[in-house]
Amino acid sequence: MQVQYNYDFEIASLIVMVIVFLHFAFVRQFPSDKTRVYGMLILSCMFECIFNIASSVGLANAAFIPQVVNEVVTFAFFVFEGLSSYLIFCYFAVQGELGEKSKRPVWILGTLPFVLFEFFVILTPFIGFFYYFWDGVYYQGFGANFGYWYVICYFVLNLAYIAFRRKVIGKRMKLIVLIYTAVAVVMIAVQYHIRGILMTSVGNTIVLLMIYLAMQNPNEMIDPVTEIGNESALLQQIKNRLYQTKGLIPHTAEFAVITVRIRKMHHLNDLLGIENRNAILQDIGSYLYLLGGKFHVFHNPDDMFTVIVDSVDRSREIRDQIADRFRKDWGVQQNRIVLDIAMIIQYYPGDFKTVPDYIGMRNFLLEEAENAGSGVAVESSSELADKYWRRNKVELVMERAIREKTFQVYYQPIYSLKEKRIVSLEALVRLQDEELGFISPDEFIPLAERDGSIIAIGAIVLEECCRFLAHHVLSNASLGIRTIQVNLSMVQCMCQNLAETILPVLEKYHIPPSMITLEVTEGAALTTPEQMQYHMKELGGMGITFAMDDYGSGNSNCSYLIRFPFREVKIDKEIVWAYFDNPVAQVVLENEIRTIRKLQIPLVVEGIEKIEQSQIMEKLGVDYIQGYYYGKPMPEQECLRHVRQFNAAAENYA
Ligand code: C2E
Ligand code: CA
Ligand code: CA
Repeated sequence: MQVQYNYDFEIASLIVMVIVFLHFAFVRQFPSDKTRVYGMLILSCMFECIFNIASSVGLANAAFIPQVVNEVVTFAFFVFEGLSSYLIFCYFAVQGELGEKSKRPVWILGTLPFVLFEFFVILTPFIGFFYYFWDGVYYQGFGANFGYWYVICYFVLNLAYIAFRRKVIGKRMKLIVLIYTAVAVVMIAVQYHIRGILMTSVGNTIVLLMIYLAMQNPNEMIDPVTEIGNESALLQQIKNRLYQTKGLIPHTAEFAVITVRIRKMHHLNDLLGIENRNAILQDIGSYLYLLGGKFHVFHNPDDMFTVIVDSVDRSREIRDQIADRFRKDWGVQQNRIVLDIAMIIQYYPGDFKTVPDYIGMRNFLLEEAENAGSGVAVESSSELADKYWRRNKVELVMERAIREKTFQVYYQPIYSLKEKRIVSLEALVRLQDEELGFISPDEFIPLAERDGSIIAIGAIVLEECCRFLAHHVLSNASLGIRTIQVNLSMVQCMCQNLAETILPVLEKYHIPPSMITLEVTEGAALTTPEQMQYHMKELGGMGITFAMDDYGSGNSNCSYLIRFPFREVKIDKEIVWAYFDNPVAQVVLENEIRTIRKLQIPLVVEGIEKIEQSQIMEKLGVDYIQGYYYGKPMPEQECLRHVRQFNAAAENYA
């Protein structure tokens, strides 16, 4: 007697799948491997479900239906059942390989069970592997349980895959794989025990829905303000082109990416309000959309717009058109304004080969473009490529130097004009590399500030200074060195636990805090004034003093000196040099020196290279001099020798 199947669950699942499918088909999707696999998956699951229902109906009415019809329908069900499990795996694997070329072993291993399964499906009509028909009635074949093992095999592969790629796969996808597996296992167990209820499609529907809501959601690729693609969509599109995916996407061997960044857009928020700002962004978005075409225009974070152009020649025209358009105004009605832009253009395959390369180069070129004029598109040149290469190299050298603690600290004398001898030293970090030679701190400190490694470098310098003080200065009072000046980066000043990174080191080497002066620039004081006041109070309370470094290089005015308890001001060497060849600078500097003296804050002048310069500064009432004339930055032994000789000679002279 033929089993009567209950297919209520399958019908409910089919309805949900059809709704998802319609939404998927009619809402704009960015073409990608992922989207294509999802499209195939949803169709396969729908067919699997339809054939499952059809075969149940057919078998229940076998008396009225020719056996061959039931055979074909059942066969089709098995084909799609095998395909659906395989496509679920493919979807996860495509998602997991984002930004990289898919790995061949993953595909071979992932495809093998599918090929084997379909092979047995094809054989089944001849050998009755999964099922056979006898007198119009359906019977399970000797290999029927293989179907369960097949599905379980893909569960294991999915789980193994997320374990294997756990570092690159997001939390959401891991969760989806786990939930899907758990639900599907329960469904299979139920169905195994109660063979009359069909529920294979329930697991499929759940995974389709979860993927659609979480990972395949078309809104994830769309920028809500401009309704064009966002950064993920852009990277996805570039990846498609890099790996030469065929199919929906025009296949190009070369292409160009134009990026336009609106400068100082955040000021417009305050100036115009969010609504007008959005109207301007929408205006730009629609203009570029018309120019670049569907799936080619994106709005990225940091007020950037990107256009992908599939032909290099055409990209030059588009670049000029964009530059022209940005000379005119944007926005709505009375709120129309002209925007200042930085523009760059990157070519594939000349300028980048991978997605991370594309992003790294983009950020670098944008920085360069900020310095070029508005609307001038910066293209990569061999010079810029060298500069980019060097910067990456310096970052690597820096990383290694942090790991291996190979930074060196040099010390530069600070001379007291009143006492006529060297009384303190500034610690200056040095980085040496076999290939790149000497790397100036002016080059690597900004990079270290950007990637946060300045914190580690600061710690190395401080430790080194304290060791130097403990071994050579504390025990050697005749040397006459009272303090050591250590530079603090803006990034260090922004850390709340600054004191905890400094005080234990002083304790470890038994250094009195009064021997340490921390130099900060006004930028640091200004960026997080409350934080700075907090540090100055906490560390100042312990006896550490603070010096304002590079005074006069920014928009310094003495109000900072009133707001923050600086015990020393260091005048920037550029300002000092300007003083000696520019009458205006002379007036400015003399004024500043007078003011600082009135505030009774000791004054250091940097960059003094000649005795005459030193004498002029002395007349102006400067207290200390730091400059090549009194000594360059030197390694510790050389510096100790220098200070000893210099101070001995000064004493003899007196
Ligand atoms: P800075 O703090 O203004 O340091 C003084 C710079 O002026 C040093 O450059 C020093 O060698 C140079 N200098 C001093 N006197 C003269 C002179 O008479 N003539 C000339 N031509 N130059 C003179 P250096 O060592 O290349 O350091 C550059 C900058 O890098 C420093 O400027 C400071 O901002 C930063 N820096 C150096 N070491 C550290 C560090 O350990 N931590 C942090 N955060 N920044 C550091
Ligand atoms: Ca300094
Ligand atoms: Ca300085």
